[in-house]
Amino acid sequence: MAQLSDDCFASGGPMMSVDEAVGLITTRVNAIVDLETVALVDADGRVLARDIAAPLPLPPFTNSAVDGYAVRNADIPDGVERALPLDGRIQAGGLALAPIKAGHTARIFTGAPMPPDAETVFMQEDVRVDDAGRIVLPPGLKPGANVRPAGEDIPQGHIALRAGQRLLPQHVALAAAFGLVRLDVVRRIRVAVFSTGDELASPGEPRAASQLFDSNRFMLMAMLRRLGCDVSDLGILRDERALLANGLKQVAGTHDLILTTGGVSTGEEDHVKAAVESIGSLVFWRMAIKPGRPVAMGIIEGTPLIGLPGNPVASFVTFVHVVRPTVLALAGSLPAPLLPIPVRAAFTYKKKVGRREYVRASLRRTQDGALEAIKFPREGAGLLSSLVDTDGLIELDEEVTRVEPGQSVGFLSYADLL
Ligand code: AMP
Ligand code: MG
Repeated sequence: MAQLSDDCFASGGPMMSVDEAVGLITTRVNAIVDLETVALVDADGRVLARDIAAPLPLPPFTNSAVDGYAVRNADIPDGVERALPLDGRIQAGGLALAPIKAGHTARIFTGAPMPPDAETVFMQEDVRVDDAGRIVLPPGLKPGANVRPAGEDIPQGHIALRAGQRLLPQHVALAAAFGLVRLDVVRRIRVAVFSTGDELASPGEPRAASQLFDSNRFMLMAMLRRLGCDVSDLGILRDERALLANGLKQVAGTHDLILTTGGVSTGEEDHVKAAVESIGSLVFWRMAIKPGRPVAMGIIEGTPLIGLPGNPVASFVTFVHVVRPTVLALAGSLPAPLLPIPVRAAFTYKKKVGRREYVRASLRRTQDGALEAIKFPREGAGLLSSLVDTDGLIELDEEVTRVEPGQSVGFLSYADLL
């Protein structure tokens, strides 16, 4: 059937599903095994290279969870309140060497070690002091209350952090709690980034009347840096096959990944695919994704290359679904599936079966407390404002053909994608 339409997917040829493409990437990409050691303060965002077994239990010693009064379990009042004389005072960082005397209570503070034989702590808010200066304890407290036993958080020897973990601030905190000073991490993934297109000028350079400033390169470099990559900015390559092939070949040996934007479509001036074929091999070059479709993956002298489309929104969306898994696979990072959260659609949308679509949307809370997604009013893949003025992407699976207002759809926040 002849197709003359505004559907940019109309032109024929095989297309790979997003899942197939990601599967291929993870089988074709070999994880980098080179390590480096970094100080704890530099570990955020890096990928841990070795498992870490807890060198000590957390907490390292049994301690009080509150400010209050410690007692033996046998001295917890049963039925009626009971006054106990005070014996001892232990503050955080202090020592508690002497066992607590039977029939006594010790003043204790949050984080202070429990004295030997003390098993339970009464909160200071729950007690009173009688005229004789004794501490009057109420009945009914559970034995062991308000105490944090050694190792209750993490027992010694437990594998607390796994190789492949992309470190977040909380992982750094755990390493610090273990007293570690340095961590072995995978070296940064080296990525060469090119833009392609005669119509592009770099910000800071003169711009001819028919040119626009290259925005994709700066977006992609920022996204790569957020993934912990070491990025080489290689500027703009002109729309010429031999020149492109030469530029790509030059960086293949010195980088772990080559990333280009523009020139992967089927137009006469789209030369990236041919350039890759002339110096390496193509793994795929069309994906059933919108916005996106023309996305090339190739291998040049053993180095993977990903050619993203030139339209900024297509470039952004395909980065998330192709480049991100590639970088994570190169870093030997644990699989990080994107989990869309269910929200209520506040829009109508029609789509073709057989391709994955991403709709730019903003969230708002409805009067009944639900989250509702409002679609950006226009659809062009070149509209940078559509990324700037929305909160994330609605993911519509291959089999979906329609979205109606009120329907539940999956939302991926930009905050989770970057
Ligand atoms: P292409 O994929 O080369 O056919 O480009 C598709 C559209 O994206 C064209 O309108 C290009 O001008 C635009 N474009 C390509 N590369 C970039 C870039 N680096 N920054 C902004 N827009 C671009
Ligand atoms: Mg172009």
